[in-house]
Amino acid sequence: MRKQYLHLSAYPCDACNGPVIAGSLGVRENEISKETDIREVGAICLSCGHRQCAATEPARARHLMPMEWAPADAVQASRLTNACVEALNRAELH
Ligand SMILES: [Zn+2]
Repeated sequence: MRKQYLHLSAYPCDACNGPVIAGSLGVRENEISKETDIREVGAICLSCGHRQCAATEPARARHLMPMEWAPADAVQASRLTNACVEALNRAELH
């Protein structure tokens, strides 16, 4: 049975060293298949609100256990992804 899973990871914020929580969603077509259609849904620092989409070396993201997640509104998910991509693009301008 097709199920969607939410993956959360945590890594330190570049701005304040607080915890950034990043989420991605993946779809598994059945119990034994690999996840496909994996997409980022956003990332944010819990302390300062900085949207940091990936861990900065040498820090590494630590991954939490994936959890089953009801399919999200596709439009909203893509909007969140775009916000994250825009944040990344802005970061590269510095
Ligand atoms: Zn922060």
